[in-house]
Amino acid sequence: MTLIWNKKAECLLPKEKEQLQLERLQNIVKYSYERIPYYKKAFDKAGVKPSDIKKMKDIEKLPYTSKADLRDAYPYKMFAVPMSEIVEIHTSSGTTGRPVVMGYTLGDIELWSEVMARSLTMAGCTKNDIVQNAYGYGLFTGGLGIHYGARKIGANIVPISAGNTKRQLEVMRDFGTTIITCTPSYTLYLAEAAKEEGVDLKQLKLKAGVFGAEMWTEKMRDEIEKRLHLSALNIYGLTEIIGPGVAQECGVKTGLHFQEDVFFPEIISPETLEVLGGGHKGELVITTLTREGTPMIRFRTKDITALRHGECKCGRTTVKMDRITGRSDDMLKIRGVIVFPSTIEKALLEIKGIEPHYKIIITRPHQLDELEIQVEASPALFSDEIRHMEEAKKNIEDHVEKTIGLRAKITLVEPKAIPRSEGKAKRVFDMREIK
Ligand SMILES: [Zn+2]
Repeated sequence: MTLIWNKKAECLLPKEKEQLQLERLQNIVKYSYERIPYYKKAFDKAGVKPSDIKKMKDIEKLPYTSKADLRDAYPYKMFAVPMSEIVEIHTSSGTTGRPVVMGYTLGDIELWSEVMARSLTMAGCTKNDIVQNAYGYGLFTGGLGIHYGARKIGANIVPISAGNTKRQLEVMRDFGTTIITCTPSYTLYLAEAAKEEGVDLKQLKLKAGVFGAEMWTEKMRDEIEKRLHLSALNIYGLTEIIGPGVAQECGVKTGLHFQEDVFFPEIISPETLEVLGGGHKGELVITTLTREGTPMIRFRTKDITALRHGECKCGRTTVKMDRITGRSDDMLKIRGVIVFPSTIEKALLEIKGIEPHYKIIITRPHQLDELEIQVEASPALFSDEIRHMEEAKKNIEDHVEKTIGLRAKITLVEPKAIPRSEGKAKRVFDMREIK
């Protein structure tokens, strides 16, 4: 039997859904226009008034909001309510420039708890489960988001936060953890560390893992499921919208259910900015339909995906989003060829004898881009004859070239040579100096 947290919201008929979305869109557009000077200015400039939104398609009249707009509003200029109504603040990781600051009212925390309860339920979580939450607690939204959802369900939360791998494994074994939540790269690290610590993963009670906050592939899922003996599910979210819980995979594993009664998704072409129809791959744009503290109108996520309509085998009717395959700003252009790091990962994991740990390094030594991929050899391959290592290297080079259309220099490194991360893994090192 499939568990569904909120049948009313997750199994709406198309007509009911559109009616609900439209009412909420009209409200949030008016609310944002009246309360946030940034939106008033942006809508006026685009020549659109809240009363112009008469059908869902009218959303296309509204201007996009970018991360740069949010940075300019630092720290509180995107807040729609007085500070006395804000109960929590989170920021998105600012790798460049100022962080983006988002405010949550009590209503927003309830919204977040609700979508996270729906998400964890998709992973089979009930009040009988023990959720080991290894996402970081703090300004990063991962930890608290999962926490609120698990609490709403009434599950037993172990708020261990990120890091301290040895302790994570002890807790997993001694407390009888049934659901683990962390980044996919950290999961693989846990599996590796388990061997060293003498923890037998087969003996644990783990049944599911909710993995997100970084891009990963189907092959990576296979690896995780094989090594940890659990069902690995993909979660999606971002601080600008709410945090984790914007979309989540159900047990069918053919895409992530988007919580579209509260977050409205669109797919646009990142080049022409026009809205693309169902099934097309492009950049995801999201409008929060009920957010109170910091409502977002048509926020450009930069994440590349596609939306698939139709009812899922699990019974939910919410639109499904493909696994994120890249970011419009992470897209690498190497010798004029467009390459997404996720495509490289997919190619690497299709090859036997190597481990799912790698680094992509791009340099420009003589005015020409060079692509190097460092990948760990499996212990068996590494202790094999040099001749076999050379053969393997060539095989990988051929396979990568066939997949991405570029020849890369493959360097096989010894097992565990690539640094492990306890949070988001950094895998791409673009060292080109453009002169
Ligand atoms: Zn489903």
